[in-house]
Amino acid sequence: MKTVFNTDEDTYRYDVEMLVNSFYPKRENDDNIKTDMIQHLNIVIDKENNLISVWVEEKTDKGNGSISCKTEGKCLSCDKKEIKNTIKQLVYKTLSTYTGKELPWGILTGIRPTKIAMAVLEEGYDANKTDGQINKSIESLLKDYYYVSDEKTNLAIDIARREREILKSIDYKDGYSLYIGIPFCPTTCLYCSFTSYPIGMYREKADRYVDCLIKEIEVCSKKFKDKKLNTIYFGGGTPTTLSADQLKRIFAKIEEVFDFTYLQEYTVEAGRPDSITEDRLKALKDYNITRISVNPQTMKQETLDIIGRKHSVDDVRKAFYLARGLGFDNINMDFIAGLPNESIDDVRNTMEEVLKLNPDSMTVHSLAIKRAAALNIFKDKYKEMTIENNVEIMELCQNYAEMLNMKPYYMYRQKNMAGNMENVGYAKDGKAGIYNILIMEEKQTILALGAGAVTKYVFPYGGRIERCDNVKNADQYMDRIDEMIVRKEKFIDTCNMG
Ligand code: SF4
Repeated sequence: MKTVFNTDEDTYRYDVEMLVNSFYPKRENDDNIKTDMIQHLNIVIDKENNLISVWVEEKTDKGNGSISCKTEGKCLSCDKKEIKNTIKQLVYKTLSTYTGKELPWGILTGIRPTKIAMAVLEEGYDANKTDGQINKSIESLLKDYYYVSDEKTNLAIDIARREREILKSIDYKDGYSLYIGIPFCPTTCLYCSFTSYPIGMYREKADRYVDCLIKEIEVCSKKFKDKKLNTIYFGGGTPTTLSADQLKRIFAKIEEVFDFTYLQEYTVEAGRPDSITEDRLKALKDYNITRISVNPQTMKQETLDIIGRKHSVDDVRKAFYLARGLGFDNINMDFIAGLPNESIDDVRNTMEEVLKLNPDSMTVHSLAIKRAAALNIFKDKYKEMTIENNVEIMELCQNYAEMLNMKPYYMYRQKNMAGNMENVGYAKDGKAGIYNILIMEEKQTILALGAGAVTKYVFPYGGRIERCDNVKNADQYMDRIDEMIVRKEKFIDTCNMG
């Protein structure tokens, strides 16, 4: 007999804790309940009888343990993954009875639910199955095995089908994408966990950062001269915190050293409205950037003030119309559900504003409170604020996306998301962000340059992926640029040899 919890052999502890977290979404007030629950959850694997038992044990007034919500099940295989999923199914049933809650994503705690749907879809097409048969296989896997709700199952199928269609023109074997990281922002948002430095403190050093980036671009481009560049994505940070001249230097170098013959998408995540100016947008237009983002996150001024965005709702409108006026016909907008003190009515008001702006795509994120974010570090300061996201709010956003003629095309999840929901990207026909799908599905190599950028080399067969990280710290990136470049050259050479 082996107890998974409260022993040194905590093989499945991480997965179980993730599931427990989903029942008790992260808020400071819940942390005690959560820790308490993990201590009182018992999981026992009886190998002799091939039986797994899960129950909650609470202390009574007399100090004895009282067992409640016990579930038992047999695992049909000795495979570790099967045992893990059986444990998760039993934990789910136990906690669902104990809390009276159902989770929209069932026992799925990973970040890419569509990957499961996509794998069944591809297997089905390889085996010449009909669409109906394939849908049935996905449904039975997601609903019966992973306990995913009907709505989320349909969403996952819908997105997997659309992703597959969009990625049809992408060459996984010889193609690749390029990511350029600019780690500066006007100010730091309350929930930010990315590599980002306030540009005010780095204005003097930004030229040196651009020099280093250009050096990395020059060397690494040579290593990919026989491959086909499919998409380029500038992210960060906020790329448009660089001046128009600095942006032009980078764009010009990219144009000089990369072959654009197979390029299908060139995105600059302009992002913060307080960084979007006419001269920067013109620089983007001059270098044929096809897709940009203007990210409000919310159209409620009080929330923008709370989250430290330092721009107004009107700045969002001005930046959007400025970009439209200059001819940008593929503009994305990012929003976050579950921001501090926002109710469903606030989200509805934001969506009404989006309707008026009529962007080409939008991504609805669920607030994820990461360890490094100020919202977590200074949690005492924000503990009176409510953080709420739920199925109703996500459905509301989905309805507005439909009104905008957008369809869901990519989705991912993160740890500690408000309401245990998901992030969904919606787009009008022909306006989906291809790079967004590629980074999630990990089907194509991404050459990533700049501070904190992670290059992922996807081998053409067998799903093997190797990673090479640049240092996150912007000063260290600049100081150690030669070392970064040598490391990356070696990494690419080794990968190219297989
Ligand atoms: S704009 Fe994005 S990267 Fe910049 S501080 Fe805000 S969350 Fe972080």
